[in-house]
Amino acid sequence: MRYPEVQNYIDGRFKAGGNGSLEVYCPLDGEVISYVPLSTPHDLDQAVTVARRAFPGWSGQTIKERVQVFYCYKTLLEQNKEQLACLVQEENGKTMDEAIAEVEKSAEVAEFACSLPQLIGGWVLEVSPGVECREERYPLGVVASITPFNFPIMVPNWTIPIMLALGNTMVLKPSEQVPLGAGRIAELLAQSGLPPGVFNVVNGDRTVVEAICDHPDIQALSFVGSTRVARAVYKRATSNLKRALCMGGAKNHLVVLPDADEVLTAENVVASFTGCAGQRCMAAAVLVAVGDVDHIIKRICEEAGSIVTGEDLGAIISQQAKERIVDCITEAIEEGAEPLLDGRKEIVTGRENGYYLSPTIIDEVRPEMKIAREEVFGPVLVIVRVKDIDEALALENRSPYGNAAAIYTGSGGMARYFSQRAGAGMIGVNIGVPVPREPFSFGGWNQSRFGIGDITGRSSIEFWTRLKKTTTKWSREAGVNWMS
Ligand code: NAD
Repeated sequence: MRYPEVQNYIDGRFKAGGNGSLEVYCPLDGEVISYVPLSTPHDLDQAVTVARRAFPGWSGQTIKERVQVFYCYKTLLEQNKEQLACLVQEENGKTMDEAIAEVEKSAEVAEFACSLPQLIGGWVLEVSPGVECREERYPLGVVASITPFNFPIMVPNWTIPIMLALGNTMVLKPSEQVPLGAGRIAELLAQSGLPPGVFNVVNGDRTVVEAICDHPDIQALSFVGSTRVARAVYKRATSNLKRALCMGGAKNHLVVLPDADEVLTAENVVASFTGCAGQRCMAAAVLVAVGDVDHIIKRICEEAGSIVTGEDLGAIISQQAKERIVDCITEAIEEGAEPLLDGRKEIVTGRENGYYLSPTIIDEVRPEMKIAREEVFGPVLVIVRVKDIDEALALENRSPYGNAAAIYTGSGGMARYFSQRAGAGMIGVNIGVPVPREPFSFGGWNQSRFGIGDITGRSSIEFWTRLKKTTTKWSREAGVNWMS
């Protein structure tokens, strides 16, 4: 085993827990690299109890004091960038560049958290003579963050710095497929001066997630993962009267018009559908070809065909996921779609047991086919051909998802027409992965997100706090009126 068995992190200490464990695989070579405990509701309860105990002390600090931890944490993320990226690469299978980018984005969220004192100041107004109203933000209490496999460091860090800087204490439930990063996050937070009990990690699977939804002392949770689970978690948490924000899966449409820049479009589309081996909620899934864009498609195929799998393109998370993606491709071809690039048989020399697939591009896909409708989550691009922008928009709007959508065009007018009508929360114009950088908020629409607001940026402030309104009168001269 390359790593010791994963442990929970409760009250500033690593702690064995759980009832049984699962293997953790390295997707690069298929080896078992560690074991992750399957924690029980009792383990969760221990974490919630210490988080509850830590809450008065942590929330009692001023926000200016609390963010000092995150100045330090940001620096430590940067100083440990390579080491963290190696961990991400081993447990998730992405390339080193992608793993580094993930850590850099985490540092960017920590930087945003440091700016919160500038953003959350309350306001005061004299509402009638001698009477003032004051509005202030308060933390919620103990909160939880449940995260997916595709960004073991970044997605936990979408929430940790923000929810903690705002004064909450928390439990993180990482994906059982990539549990190693969370332990390192805990160590860096402790090194940054975070008091014990403020941040806790409880590993495991569905059992822990359901216990989080049901725990009476957890006030709010965020979830990031597939739409099926996001929906179930949202229903269960809100039926227990918790605040919940559950980000789900995606099927992102990239619309290419004939006037698009050929080189820019090809490079961008390929980066979008092959980056992180297509395992991003922002990845291109459907290329909507408007009119004759064959010259661009040819270039996309050349560009994707030049990718060296195992070097420029990382692995799929598991053998099971790889088989599911291969089945999706096979089914589409059997239904009459035409493969322009077929990556199903990829084997990387020296890593024959790794879970690799090469870029796959499938033309002549009909909108009703499963591969055009459902999330594939692999390096697969399907092409649907339409006659004009309105048909492209109708197709995009029919998708039940709504995470991202993009248009490639040289026309500002067409770009605006598209961005106003596309049914997605994040729109790209000549950009295939339109991730809003801090302080902008990240979040999709429709079945890509259940709950109100977004998970990062300004919108997250609303979610992780509650407003207190205080009305004050100190002087008798204010008199008595209807609201005295
Ligand atoms: P997943 O839904 O399988 O798992 C996510 C989390 O839920 C994990 O912690 C897992 O332990 C837990 N879980 C799994 N099954 C559960 C169940 N039945 N009940 C309760 N909890 C359960 O997702 P994944 O495969 O880890 O991640 C990939 C998915 O995440 C993709 O669909 C991707 O689009 C999505 N994603 C979305 C965003 C976004 O912001 N919208 C960002 C990243 C990933």
